[in-house]
Formats: sequence, C-alpha cells, structure tokens
Amino acid sequence: MTTSWFLKIALPTPLRRTFDYLPPENGLIEQLQIGQRILVPFGRSRLTGILLEKTTHSDIAKEKLKQVICALDEQSIIPDTLLPWFKRIADYYHHSLGEVLFTALPPDAKRDKSLLSYEIQWQVCNTDFETSQSLQRSPKQAALFECIKNRKGPVGLAELDSFKDPLRLLNELENKGVIARSERLNTQIKNKLTHRIGTTPVLTSAQRAALHEIKAHLQHFQCFLLKGITGSGKTEVYLQLIEQVIEQGKQALLLAPEIGLTPQLFLRVQQRFENHLGVMHSNMSAGDRKRLWQRILEGDVNILVGTRSAVFAPLPKLGLIVIDEEHDLSYKQQDGFRYSARDIALMRAQGENIPVILGSATPSLESLKNAENKRYTLIELPDRAGVAKAPKTHLIDMRNQDRHFAVSASLIEKIKHALQREEQALLFLNRRGFSPVLICQDCGHVNRCRACDYPQTYHQAERLLRCHQCTRAEAVPTQCAACGNHQLQPLGFGTERVMEQLSEAFPGTEILRIDRDTTRKRGAFEEILQQIEKPGPKILLGTQMIAKGHDFPNLTLVGVIDADQGLFGADFRSTERLAQLLVQVAGRAGRADKAGHVYIQTHQPEHPFFKTLFENGYQGFSRQALAERQQADFPPYSYSALFRAESAQAADARNLLEAVSNSLGGMTQHITAYDPIPAPLEKRANHYRFQWFICSADRTELHRFLHLALRTMEKHPLSRKVRWHLDVDPMDMS
Ligand SMILES: [Zn+2]
Ligand SMILES: [Zn+2]
Repeated sequence: MTTSWFLKIALPTPLRRTFDYLPPENGLIEQLQIGQRILVPFGRSRLTGILLEKTTHSDIAKEKLKQVICALDEQSIIPDTLLPWFKRIADYYHHSLGEVLFTALPPDAKRDKSLLSYEIQWQVCNTDFETSQSLQRSPKQAALFECIKNRKGPVGLAELDSFKDPLRLLNELENKGVIARSERLNTQIKNKLTHRIGTTPVLTSAQRAALHEIKAHLQHFQCFLLKGITGSGKTEVYLQLIEQVIEQGKQALLLAPEIGLTPQLFLRVQQRFENHLGVMHSNMSAGDRKRLWQRILEGDVNILVGTRSAVFAPLPKLGLIVIDEEHDLSYKQQDGFRYSARDIALMRAQGENIPVILGSATPSLESLKNAENKRYTLIELPDRAGVAKAPKTHLIDMRNQDRHFAVSASLIEKIKHALQREEQALLFLNRRGFSPVLICQDCGHVNRCRACDYPQTYHQAERLLRCHQCTRAEAVPTQCAACGNHQLQPLGFGTERVMEQLSEAFPGTEILRIDRDTTRKRGAFEEILQQIEKPGPKILLGTQMIAKGHDFPNLTLVGVIDADQGLFGADFRSTERLAQLLVQVAGRAGRADKAGHVYIQTHQPEHPFFKTLFENGYQGFSRQALAERQQADFPPYSYSALFRAESAQAADARNLLEAVSNSLGGMTQHITAYDPIPAPLEKRANHYRFQWFICSADRTELHRFLHLALRTMEKHPLSRKVRWHLDVDPMDMS
C-alpha cells in the first residue's frame, strides 16, 4: 500500500488555522518544497498559499480534501529555516499565519503567476515525434503535447491554463522523454563578495569602546541598545560592525524609519561598500520588490538597508541586525497585520542566534527598561563626534504674543540674525494645510467632515476643505452652513499659513516647505533635500518629515512653532513622543562647527515637562516618565493589547466589545481589562469606533486571556457584522 500524503498550507485568509490538501499526484511529493507557493482551490475560487508541511496525517477524511492545483515557482520563496519565526510571530500577534506570510512577501506573491523570473518552462525534445503512436492511449497528454509543439518555443505553466491539472500531465510527458524542462533563465552570479571601499574614519574613544564590546558578541544572540545623540557617530559604529560581519562571510540587515531616511543611509553604505547591496522601502514598485526578493533569495544581497518590511527579507546568512532610531513609530504597522518590526527583529535574531543593535538618541521607554533589567546591554556614545557642539535650548512664552502670527516676533528676530550669518533656519510644525479649522465669525460654526465629524483642514491654494482623517475633500463654502454669513475665517495655523507669514517677513529669502502636500510627487522630497544642501541662507519649514535624521550642516537655528500639541495628548505615550521629537528636532541644529540654538514656542513655559527635559535631558525625562508608568501599571511595566471595533451603527461595535468583555469578566485574575470605550476619534469615515484596552504584568497570562477573548469574539454573531481587530502592543490609541 502506498503512503497517503497530505499538505498543510497557509492561506491569506483571516482564519487563524492552516488548511489540509492532497498533493497533485503521489509521485510528485518529493518535488514539493516547504516554503513553496502552491495554487489551491478555495471555495469557488483559487488562492495562492505557502506549503508549510508534508505529512502522512490529517484530521480530515481524505475524501473530503481537495487536491492542490500546482506549485507556482520552481523553488520555495520563503526559506524553511524562517518558518518557525513566522509561526512565532503569528502566535504572538494572534494573527493568521497566511496573512503574516503574505504581508512579508512582495505584493505580487498573491497572484497565481511565477514570482521568480525563472519560471519553469517546457519544450518539445524532438519535433519529429509523432503523437499518434505513443500517446494515443492518453488523449489529454496528446492534446497538451500538441499545444506545446505548436507554440514552437518554451511554454510556461501560465500558458497552459486551459488544461486540468497540467503539472501532472507535463510530468507524465517528461517521464516519457517527449518534452523537457528548459534551462533556468537567470544565470547564477559567481562573485558574491562585498568589499569595503574608501577610508575608514578615525573613531572617538567612545566609538572604539562600543565597537570593541559589540564585536566580542558577534557569534550569538545579544541585544545592544546604542544610545547616542545625533552626531555622536552611531552610523560609523554600525558600518564597522557590518564590515566585520561581511568579512565573516555573513550578511547584515540595517533598518531605518520611513520617510526618506533610507536613501540617505543607503548612500552612506554605498560610500563604504561595493557589490551586492540592496535597498527596500515603501516607495518601490511591485516589480522592483519582486526582483529584490529574488536577488535576496539567491544570496545576491549581502547588505540590505530598508524600512519596516525589510525585516522579513529572506537573507540566508544573516549575521547582524541593526535598527536605527528604534523608538520611531513607523516601525509599527498600523493596519492589516499590526506588527512591530523592532520586536519581531528581536525574535528573528534570537532564533538565528545573532546580535541585534538598537540605536537611538531617545530610546523608547520599553527599551530603556529592558536595558535597566539587563536584558539589553546599554552602550552610550556621550560626545558628539568631531567638533560639533550641543545646541542651546530656549523657551518662548507665547501668552503675550500677537495671536495673528504663528511665529513670534522674537523668533523672527533670531531667524533674521541667522540668515545674516549666511546660515539656515528650520521651523517645525506638525500640521499641514492653511489652518486646521474654518470658523464662521458670526455664529462660531465650524466646518466638519460629514463622515468623521472632525474639523476639516482648510487648504488655501487648493481652495479645498480636506479631512485629514479620511481624505474626503470638498470645495470651500462661500457662506456659513448654519447662519448664511459670508465671513468664514481660518483659525489656527498649518504649514501653508506659516509660509505666508515667513514670505512677508523675509522677502527674497529662499523658503522651502516640506510636508505631505509639497512632496506628494515621486522624487519631490529628494529634490527638496538637494535644494537644502546647496549653500546659502534659507528657511526650511516642515512637519515631522523633516524631524528625522537628515543632516543639514549649515543649519544653526531650529524653531518649534507649537510644542503644546503633544503636552496634553489623550495617549499615555504623548509626552514620550514630544520629548523624543524635541530632542530629535534639536539635533538638527549645529551639526558642524557652529553652535546651534533651539527655540520652543509654548503657552505653558512653566510646565514641569520642559523643566525636566531641559535641565536633566532625555535621561532625566525618561527616568521620571518610567516612574510614572510604573505607578500606573502602564507599559513597559505591563504588557498591553487593544481590541478595536467599528461599525456604521454605533451600537453594534459597542455591543460586540461589551458582550465579550462581560462574558470574560470572571477570568480577569492577573489581568486588567478596562471597560470598552469610544475611541478618542469616535467617528471616522462614517463608522463609529470603540476600543477595549487590556493589560497585564504577566505576558503569558495576557496572551491566554487574548486567546479566550478572540475565540469568544469570533463566535459572537456581531463579529461578522462589525469590523474589528486585535492590536498587540498597540502604539496608537487614537
Ligand atoms: Zn455662521
Ligand atoms: Zn473625514
């Protein structure tokens, strides 16, 4: 009796389970590889899945199982060594393994075409071969043979779509020796060595010490938290460690936050190394992503620089992971499969027994606590490398300033002086558009988005009111919708409006605005960056896009137009974010041999937050913030999760969360499960949003609870009517 084989396959569906199928034909089982893409029938359609396991056991009766259609690529596109890590991730986030895998893969992977360029192709061995003799007993084989013969060239599986189970037929024909697989189309690259080029800069003693300490641990898992202010030379430490890893014949992965940072970091890598480098970021086309994935699989990339999703890259000989700006929010995916690239990078490093380096001037409180607990090794780079001086910080009291202007008279004066010295100034305001509100002067009516009930942002140049929550836009009304008055006034300031004030105050000066509106076109951001690098006085005005690690050597003044935005946020992390942002923006000033000055405009100059941050630095702030979090049992002193639910009828989402919360009421030992509440942004795109926050000091207990909650949720009839998801370690509470 022949053995029955079953295939366990992960499919991109929200269902948190694997699916059993039968192989295309028993004889072919050896050719199927774990991690290979398989096309399967699913309901009335077809789905592309990933083969996880070949087994002789299934809980489902064989007659009830369907046969897979075919394998889509010649080889696996996920190395089987990475599968345990993917499973761990899926478990941790309580997410479908199939969706996790297809989040990792290039977008084209879901299609039923070959992902790797060397698609398997077949051609006829001998054109004189007569089908009538040897294939007459099998009309299907004969038809397929004729089809291939008529094409007069190699034929791929995709072109044989009209045949049922073409792979089986092809195999039979191949066994009979009448057709053959054509050669792989790509040629293997022979020289895969990456070389260092250029000269290595001289290190400071702190850099040398950091390098020395980490080098001693390159052969096993260990997490280093490299803390150093902007300009302290973290990147140089990364580069020299990467060189070491490359010399050992291994590969390195360097992660950077979103928004333009990756090209800059990649440039640094390119200036130091040549051959077999790769860069992966969110602006890549699907085709480029696919080609890069293939190069990585083939071992053609030794150093990969990338944003969040590069953490999934199938680097076969990974020896080091570096996560620059580890505190950055963009490492957390905020929709679909909500993972933290930093956290799963740590799981990967642990699984592959390699070191990981988290770099930041302002580490997250989570990482600082891990360093305190000795789970991470903290290494500090105290001095600015070279001769750059730390900037001086000043508060500007906005309470007595003219409310018609966003930039105070004293800050205008300081900018004037900087420009006279031929230097550059950067103004930071995290709000784009002309004004966040358009208000009726007569009755106070505010224009709100109908779908979100949120004030619409006035965009003057476009003559539009835009909702920044749902992207809905409409023409600016000529009169008030409530009272008919024609006096509609912009209230508050966005970058577009500040631009107006600056142009008036500094006629003839080059002023560059950097926000999502001015950088929408592909390449526009890079163009502005090049413009900034040109010498000469200029003013830069930007949102958080500009706050991140760009290097502007001639910048000596930084102005924060509205620091109060983060001071009273609803999120318990808002002061942490504000502190990180202020330190980061301040880091833009005075990078070369010129001293920098940072001016912060606030209506709350006496707020203890500023006192702590400026007198004791980020370290002082974080120590105090950690103490407060501990007091409140908030992360990082507890592990947390958030269920979010939204529905067109508010009652549905609320009832679903309440039903689950009530039914698990008795299970909450070691668990703090808050009552479900409306989200701070209660309505978005015509849906009412609710959330349910859960935390526990015990991670295992939390996950046990989440498991139960999910099962209860999935069984509830409302769960099919309401859009809901679970966010483990949520970072955004809006
Ligand atoms: Zn009115
Ligand atoms: Zn809206």
